[in-house]
Amino acid sequence: MTTTQTGDDDRRYRPVPVLHPARTWVAITEYGNAASRQPSSSLGLGAAVRVGDAVLRCPPTGMAGEAERPRMHRITVGAVEIVSLYDEAFLFDPQRVWPDAGAGIEAYRNQLEPDGQLGMDCLCFLLRAEGQTVLVDTGLGPESNGQLMDELRAAGIAPEEVDQVVFTHLHGDHTGWNLDRQSGQPLFPRATYLVPKGDWDDQTTKSQPSASFTRDVAPLRLLDRMELIEDGYVLGPSFTAIHTPGHTPGHTSIAVTSNGEQALILGDVFLTPIDVQEPDWSSTFDSDMDVARTTRHAILDRLETSGELVAPAHVRSPGFGRIMRVEGRRVWRPVS
Ligand SMILES: [Zn+2]
Repeated sequence: MTTTQTGDDDRRYRPVPVLHPARTWVAITEYGNAASRQPSSSLGLGAAVRVGDAVLRCPPTGMAGEAERPRMHRITVGAVEIVSLYDEAFLFDPQRVWPDAGAGIEAYRNQLEPDGQLGMDCLCFLLRAEGQTVLVDTGLGPESNGQLMDELRAAGIAPEEVDQVVFTHLHGDHTGWNLDRQSGQPLFPRATYLVPKGDWDDQTTKSQPSASFTRDVAPLRLLDRMELIEDGYVLGPSFTAIHTPGHTPGHTSIAVTSNGEQALILGDVFLTPIDVQEPDWSSTFDSDMDVARTTRHAILDRLETSGELVAPAHVRSPGFGRIMRVEGRRVWRPVS
């Protein structure tokens, strides 16, 4: 998804940073050039507070699946430990995410919030193999009161331990915790930041790169902390970059292989379990809908065939699952 506020990629969606209690929802209030502001009273979950243009939603304590829901979550694939790290949550109008869905969205009512909004989490993933620590994506960042750094701390991982930060793509909800806002220095002081070349080229050839790119990514080159990566780039013995374009030109997933097991850190190839069942519904988040649809089908085919673990960036925390076929239909099956 793209979530920053200016630039060609960013005009369609404008999440607004909000103050942060235990858990927040960032209500997406604008799509395209048309504003779609939601009165806080229309939001069905718990308290709602308007902060500037944002509507902050705090699920009521005790709501099933919310207040008690664990955040970071560990799983192992062979000798690799994968930790899902929660940064933030979003709400969207599903009709605006999938304009072609029409009344078809009603079939998925049980996957929406009680008020009909579509909830997504913003997750990052930490990969640990012997001698190597990799962080996949860096969330929305401090302006949204994202929790990535707290999650890392709670997981017992110091920023200095991260060897590589790799981006699935360069939308602002994946690059927010790159740099310290005061010092301008990398928040992961030892890390090399691995940037998909297709996205770098896309942003650097635009007349107006996205605000998040200018803030979070472009300085990495001046700091000499960046390396451009393409399909097949080997991060280490267990981790390989795979070009999965469409959401953005250079969108990249990270394949994990260890001791005969495998997993895929997916990024935004699909955003929700609904996309798994409706892969032909175009998402307005995708920069090239046709390429994204082709990639989505290919990856879902792979995941169903292999049965491997998959970790998308925006499926609700903890964000691990598998693709299975049930009664002839492909579905997301969460793993915890
Ligand atoms: Zn995203």
